[in-house]
Amino acid sequence: MDAEIIAVGSELLTVGRLDTNSLYLTGELNNLGVEVVTKCVVGDDLARLTDAVRRAFSRSGIVILSGGLGPTEDDLTREAVAQALDRKLIFHADISDALEQRFARSGRRMSEINKRQAYVIEGAEVLPNDRGTAPGQWIAAHGAVAMLLPGPPHELKAMFEQQCLPRLTQFVPRQAIRTVFLRITGMPESDLDALISPVYKKYQNPVTTILAANGDLQVHLRARCDTDAEAIALLAEVAGPIEALLGDRLYSRIGDPLEVVVGNLLRERGATVAVAESCTGGMLGARFTATPGSSEYFVGGFITYSNALKRDLLGVPASTLEQFGAVSSQTAEAMAQGARERTGATCAISITGIAGPDGGSEDKPVGLVYIGIADAAGVVVTQRRFLGDRERIRVFTTQHALDLLRRRLQGLL
Ligand code: ATP
Repeated sequence: MDAEIIAVGSELLTVGRLDTNSLYLTGELNNLGVEVVTKCVVGDDLARLTDAVRRAFSRSGIVILSGGLGPTEDDLTREAVAQALDRKLIFHADISDALEQRFARSGRRMSEINKRQAYVIEGAEVLPNDRGTAPGQWIAAHGAVAMLLPGPPHELKAMFEQQCLPRLTQFVPRQAIRTVFLRITGMPESDLDALISPVYKKYQNPVTTILAANGDLQVHLRARCDTDAEAIALLAEVAGPIEALLGDRLYSRIGDPLEVVVGNLLRERGATVAVAESCTGGMLGARFTATPGSSEYFVGGFITYSNALKRDLLGVPASTLEQFGAVSSQTAEAMAQGARERTGATCAISITGIAGPDGGSEDKPVGLVYIGIADAAGVVVTQRRFLGDRERIRVFTTQHALDLLRRRLQGLL
């Protein structure tokens, strides 16, 4: 069964307000095994809204409208759905009375326009709203169901959870839903898709989604079957070959972020880590310490932006800085070694590079970074060039540094 969401409100078509209700609803529907196949935002325009509702009913089993249930002239959701279904709007005196009492409780008089909220589409069930004035409505028509929900997110969530979910579970066939959540780094999204699409494109079930941000890639596989056992078997059939293609670029099969995976590897080995950062200015330390319990393996670090601090805090020889420069393999090596020695950590990561936009040269362009990993076996330095603005270069560098330590700990580097 497929669903369609219509977010109603001209304010959602401005730069000032984002439709977040549909994200919440999509998550809840997916948990029931329902795919959202279309969603749209429609302004406060009766003809356009009626048209959108008509189209939604013609092709989707579940239609959810959010917003436009208020008392004013531009709250048109009730009218639009009534017109689209060719049904009347019927005044419910009990809703009007309840609204009046609600106003009276807060010492106010209800104005005449609030009576608009007491109109219910012929044949619809009223969904009480304990957090606001706009009641919702649930309508079954042409083998489909529609829900009219209030726009304010806290009202919509409460109404959906309390009123709609129990009704939907009766309406939607029971299904077993299982997901696999793979995380990958070290390749562009297009390469990832080219690599694994020959496998996942053979299947409509599970549904495969690829998400990419900040050098981090996620592959979600969601299987819907009659039983758990079938869903698990289907996921194994599809995820197995994908995992094999990804090889050591796959860092988590359960959706853990890279810093958590690296933290677990350190903890399992009884190892600790220190950092020495120049151009990332503490971003690597921040990622490590974002994980609760990271004090078990993260000892601390150095933000050594100036040459003087690289020398004084990490013991990078002045001659190294002079001869090769702060952004060099030799400096990265000395930084990592110094951080390890001075903290007593099992391993250390160093980062030095040119984040830009200024400071690049032909020899050492913006985006050039050196990352050192020091451990008992010595220091490995990796040179990379990341493209993009300052923030992107710093984020990608941090991600790559974490991945290098993961590889080192797993014996891949
Ligand atoms: P009310 O009776 O409170 O007016 P309503 O159903 O008419 O309820 P709207 O007037 O459409 O709701 O929206 C009220 C507020 O709810 C908006 O100003 C906005 O802040 C928020 N809102 C509406 N739709 C969405 C949405 N899709 N995502 C996030 N917020 C929304």
